[in-house]
Amino acid sequence: MESLNMCLAGGLDELGILEKFKLNTLIHHWRDVVGPIYAGHTRIIDIKPPKIVLSADNSQWMQEVKMNQKRILKAINDYYQGEIITEMGLMMHRQSFVKESSSPEIYHIEMPDIEGYIDMSKIILSDDDINVIDNMVNKISDDTLKDTFRNVIISSRKKEIYLLEHGYHRCERCRILMNRATKHCVTCEYEIHREHINNIKRQIRRIPYIKYKECCKYINCTFDDFAMAMRELIYFYLDKVYHGSTSRNHMYMAAMLITHKKPEELTDQHVINLCNKHRSKFLSEEKQKELNMLKGILE
Ligand SMILES: [Zn+2]
Repeated sequence: MESLNMCLAGGLDELGILEKFKLNTLIHHWRDVVGPIYAGHTRIIDIKPPKIVLSADNSQWMQEVKMNQKRILKAINDYYQGEIITEMGLMMHRQSFVKESSSPEIYHIEMPDIEGYIDMSKIILSDDDINVIDNMVNKISDDTLKDTFRNVIISSRKKEIYLLEHGYHRCERCRILMNRATKHCVTCEYEIHREHINNIKRQIRRIPYIKYKECCKYINCTFDDFAMAMRELIYFYLDKVYHGSTSRNHMYMAAMLITHKKPEELTDQHVINLCNKHRSKFLSEEKQKELNMLKGILE
């Protein structure tokens, strides 16, 4: 009963669509996963675990990607929080363009084709299931539409029952069906992990010079997770500094995170020097003037 409501909650969720969609969220996070330079010259063409297909701008970039294949696969699997992708296919961008326009594979959602070889009439829905379905479709006034809708829901529910009987189970968090032997689906695992990292970051923001041992008093985390949170915060503030920020808060945050020193242990000069090391050499003239002025005031 409950599972049927869940199934219908998101409209007519076809089984597996979400799982597939979630795998493809990598496309939107590609820049973060491989970094802006690689992301600028490569594109994801297809993701079908255990394989990912990428395209690269030209033969130099093909070479570059090949040489760094291990590192890229690791970054991808770090994103998915599991060994999801172990193989990489590679093609030149021009070829991929042809392929893409003729068959938009990325957007094609695969679901187990069970109607073809399973006798759906042998799967019997319970009275409860039928009642819920009837209640749903009774709101529709057009009879033809009502029948169509009813049949779609019934067949969707039958597929669900079939899959549940054949090794599929629900993600405990988002309830989608999957055949992965884990409590949560790939996306939920990723989201849970991100929530955890963000909580650690919140803690570190409160005490930016905090060290791992002390952080553990406030939040239960592994050293790797702590290091990841720390790294992301350092990148965040260094990025501000790199792009010319002269905010005292940004500069002190970066300095405290990097040195683990308390604000009273740092001098303005120390902080400025540290930040200048990380400042882009390509800032606009105006930004540069602003920085020089700041330097003048402090010296
Ligand atoms: Zn889930």
